[in-house]
Amino acid sequence: MTKLSVVVPCYNEEAVIDSFDTEIRRVLDALPVDYEVCYVDDGSRDGTLGRLRAIAARHGEQTRYVSFSRNFGKEAGMLAGLREATGDAVVIMDADLQHPPELIGKMLDLYALGHDQIIARRNREGDKKVRSALSSLYYRAVNSWVDVELTDGVGDFRLLSRQAVDALLSLPEYNRFSKGLFSWVGFDTVTFDYQNAQREAGETKWRFGALLNYAMDGLISFNNRPLRAAIWTGAILTALGALYTLWIVIAALTTGIKTPGYTTLVAIIVGLGGVQMTMLGLIGEYIGRIYYETKRRPHFLVKESHGADVRTGAALSAPAETDAR
Ligand code: UDP
Ligand code: MG
Repeated sequence: MTKLSVVVPCYNEEAVIDSFDTEIRRVLDALPVDYEVCYVDDGSRDGTLGRLRAIAARHGEQTRYVSFSRNFGKEAGMLAGLREATGDAVVIMDADLQHPPELIGKMLDLYALGHDQIIARRNREGDKKVRSALSSLYYRAVNSWVDVELTDGVGDFRLLSRQAVDALLSLPEYNRFSKGLFSWVGFDTVTFDYQNAQREAGETKWRFGALLNYAMDGLISFNNRPLRAAIWTGAILTALGALYTLWIVIAALTTGIKTPGYTTLVAIIVGLGGVQMTMLGLIGEYIGRIYYETKRRPHFLVKESHGADVRTGAALSAPAETDAR
């Protein structure tokens, strides 16, 4: 029988984790699979860990959890969950019941047909207008930039075959932008749509600023095209500058020197200053990423676990190290 692992990153989900657990077990018990639920407590400050201990006490065999020493972010949480998981297939889902557990049955049907990644794409009904408009704009922009395909409404809710999971785990990078990584590993992928649900309880951890940063990660994580664009912008500005200089020199030679030009001067200084700062920032972003990659710090540190042997998120090829700095 297929063994299914369900990976659930949780950060401050005390309000909803119990009803999630009840729901997921109700659905999984009805399916013809062996299963385990792999929780990752991402350094919650509320009672999430206590709830997980209680769940593990109730369903020891079918429950694993790891708890981080602090909040490392959802990306680290998913990575830990994938390492924890021992199933032939792994479903990643949120703890807030926004990802309907009933869809797991459908995912397993598609998995039986031989697909490796089965993606549930939510429609944006019920989302705030501004947010869905901004995201669709973002996806249009970002897809013209990055090499991997990112789709609107496609999140982390998906089923992965063991082969796809192992491929993801073989990517050692520190800056993990999962949406891109999922797409990058490829394999046989199918997508189906589902109706977006509202959060059951608790509140979203995504503030607008965090979303903006996430958007920036998406742009920069997958290639150096932004650097290329910087070079081209520089080249175009240089050419325009040369033409303008030529124009001024010719004008000076033919009609004499006219002193006014303060406005032009200020406009050029301010404009070029802005362009230069932006490009420096861009280069800085790439260098910053190199900086983090070279440190080779683990993706997360585990303070407690049950049923799982996931101690640190160190890259598989690197020795597990705890940096005390
Ligand atoms: N999450 C996490 N670590 C974080 C933030 C979020 O593990 O630092 C988890 C959270 O508990 C939830 C999932 O990621 O299970 C999605 O978070 P949320 O529901 O806040 O995001 P939204 O659905 O609003 O995009
Ligand atoms: Mg949510």
